[in-house]
Amino acid sequence: MSYGMLIDVTLCIGCKGCQIACKQWNDLPAEKTAFNADWSNPPELTARTWKRVGHHLVQKGGKLLWRFVPLACMHCNEPACEAACFVHAFYKTPEGPVLYKENLCVGCRYCMVACPFGVPKFEWDKTFPLVLKCRMCFERIAEGQQPSCATACPTGATLFGRRDELLAEARNRINANPDKYVPHIYGEKEAGGTSVLYLSDVPFHELGFKTVERGEIPAEPIPSFSDRIVRWTLPVAATWTAVLGGLYWYTKRRAEVEESMKRHNSPQNKGEGSQND
Ligand code: SF4
Ligand code: SF4
Repeated sequence: MSYGMLIDVTLCIGCKGCQIACKQWNDLPAEKTAFNADWSNPPELTARTWKRVGHHLVQKGGKLLWRFVPLACMHCNEPACEAACFVHAFYKTPEGPVLYKENLCVGCRYCMVACPFGVPKFEWDKTFPLVLKCRMCFERIAEGQQPSCATACPTGATLFGRRDELLAEARNRINANPDKYVPHIYGEKEAGGTSVLYLSDVPFHELGFKTVERGEIPAEPIPSFSDRIVRWTLPVAATWTAVLGGLYWYTKRRAEVEESMKRHNSPQNKGEGSQND
């Protein structure tokens, strides 16, 4: 059974209860941070802050409104971090969370480059650093509990449940309130689908999300995308090698012919020729 979370941005009041609950449950230390230009704090996810609430000032119906967006790992259905990790430190569980085996990690940070959502963070200040991110409180899920962020949310903005049921709930909310919500469940298709889903009353790009419509993220899983690149890379590389080899042979042969003609037409050769006449 695959679980996920439905985050309804229209219900979030930006209290940061989820951000604090995440810190508490995962025993993440406080860190010195600075306010972002949008007054969110910290300005981005870090190795010690696995969930943060982003702030966005948006225009709706001629009014300026604040929208608050809890952000963490999306727990992709086919994670790019897992595909990029050659020692298989990252892996997708059948229950939904994407987890990390720290004893396997060699610190190459390919996962950080591969993740389309900029989620995994490196412990730059540690002698033996790890790559850290939200784990959807998998140990709580295993005990039949909800992730700590979902239990802390006072407004129900973060809902935990089976992904298929959350999708149905999201569709129901959109159908029941077509004037309120944009008809888009973020995470249903993005990067091949994610366990974390979002609903909003303003277009997602206004909340800083990369969207398929704007060509910022593919609708297909990124691992299949990179597989295709690898599949194409080998034949293209082989063809290019053959072309370069052919050019090299042609250039070399031409130089040899020119050299031979020069030798044949040299005065010395001509002289030798006239002596023989
Ligand atoms: S959001 Fe990034 S870190 Fe999280 S599962 Fe997807 S690719 Fe991996
Ligand atoms: S706890 Fe709920 S209302 Fe508060 S910031 Fe998190 S999602 Fe928003």
